[in-house]
Amino acid sequence: MHKIYFDHAATTSTRKEVVDIMLPYFTESFGNPSSVYEIARKNKQAVDEARQKTADLLGADFNEIYFTSGGTESDNWAIKGVAESYKSKGNHIITSAIEHHAVLHTCQYLESKGYEVTYLPVDEYGQVNPEDVRKAIKDTTILISIMYANNEIGTIQPIEEIGRIAKERGVLFHTDAVQAMGHIPIDVKKANVDLLSFSGHKFHGPKGIGALYIRKGVRIKPLLHGGAQERNRRAGTENVPGIVGLAAALELAIRDMEENNKKMLELRDYIIRGITERIEHVKLNGHPTKRLPNNINFTFDFIEGESLLLLLDSKGIYCSSGSACTSGSLDPSHVLLAIGLPHERAHGSLRITLGDENTKEEADYLLEVLPSVVQRLRDMSPLYEEFKRKNK
Ligand SMILES: *Cc1c(COP(=O)(O)O)cnc(C)c1O
Repeated sequence: MHKIYFDHAATTSTRKEVVDIMLPYFTESFGNPSSVYEIARKNKQAVDEARQKTADLLGADFNEIYFTSGGTESDNWAIKGVAESYKSKGNHIITSAIEHHAVLHTCQYLESKGYEVTYLPVDEYGQVNPEDVRKAIKDTTILISIMYANNEIGTIQPIEEIGRIAKERGVLFHTDAVQAMGHIPIDVKKANVDLLSFSGHKFHGPKGIGALYIRKGVRIKPLLHGGAQERNRRAGTENVPGIVGLAAALELAIRDMEENNKKMLELRDYIIRGITERIEHVKLNGHPTKRLPNNINFTFDFIEGESLLLLLDSKGIYCSSGSACTSGSLDPSHVLLAIGLPHERAHGSLRITLGDENTKEEADYLLEVLPSVVQRLRDMSPLYEEFKRKNK
C-alpha cells in the first residue's frame, strides 16, 4: 500500500542532494575542525562556509550564527542563557501560552529558579496581541520569547511588530522560528529579533542539528561548558556533516520556497475545502489566512483524535493529533485549550502538515477515506449518540 506522509511539522525526510553533500564528512573528511592538519583545516573551512551561507540567507553576520543540536537546544540556550546573563537587570520573562514545550518547559524551569514568567493569552485564531506584549513589559523584564509560527495550528505571529515594541522598550526578543524557517522569508534585521532558533530536520535537513542566531552585542551564558568551539559559547566537537547539511538544506528550502509554498497552499486549501464540504461538525483551528502554507488542523466533534490517527494509519495515511510530543499523553493540547476549545473538542483534533512532495492524488485519497473513518468513530461515540437524541 502507498504510504502518505502528512506530518511534516513533526519532521521531514532529508533531501537526497543534502545527504550526498554530507556523506564525505562521515568518511574521507572526518577530521576534527579544531585540529591543525589538512583534513581538519578543510573541515574548519567547511563549517565556516556553512556558517557564512546560513548567515547570508537570514541577513545575519557570520559571527551571529551558532550551531546547536536542534530547536530544543537553541530554545533552551536562548532563554536560560539570557535569563542568567541579565539576572542583575531583572527576573521577568514574557512568553505566550501556545509556545512549543521547548520554550514552555524551559520557562517553567526558570520559574522554579526564582524567575517570574508571564504567559500571554492568544485570540481564538492563536495570535498574540502586540499590545498585550507592551502592557506586560515591566522594569524587571529581560526577555520576550514568542514563536514565529505555531507547530500545531500554523498561526503566524506579528513578529516584526512585537520586535518593534521590544526594541522601543529595550527588552531582548527571542523567537522560535523552527516551523517558520523555509516556509516564510526571514530576515533577522527586518524581523527585529535579537535571538532566533531553528532546526534542520523541519526543512528537509538532517536531525540533531540546529542553530541559534544571536545578535551582536547580546550577552548570553553558555548552556554547555567545555572546549572553545563556537567562539567559546557552545562547547563540543562540531557536528560537521550536520552543519554542512543544515546550510545546504536551508539554501535549497529558500531557493524553492516560493514555488513550494504556492503548491502547498493550493493543496492546503483544497483539503480544507474538501473536509469542510464533506464532513459535518468540524472546525478549522488556527488563523484562516495568517497560517503556514502547509498546515491544516481540524477538530472533529464527538471523536478522539488518537482513534482517528490509528484508523488513518491503518489506511496508510500518517498525520498527527497535535504535536508529536503530546501524542501518547492523554492531556489535550495546550494550544487548542489556549484558543478556547473545551477539553472534549480539543481531544478530537487532527493535524495534517504538507510537504512539497505531497500530491493532489494523495489529497483525494485522504478526502475519500476521511469521511467514512470519522463516521465510523462517531457511530461508536456516546457523545454523538447524545447529540443526535437531543437534536431529533
Ligand atoms: C520541532 C520543534 C522544536 C524542537 O526542535 P528539535 O530540533 O526537534 O529539537 C521547537 N519548536 C518548534 C516550534 C518545533 O516545531
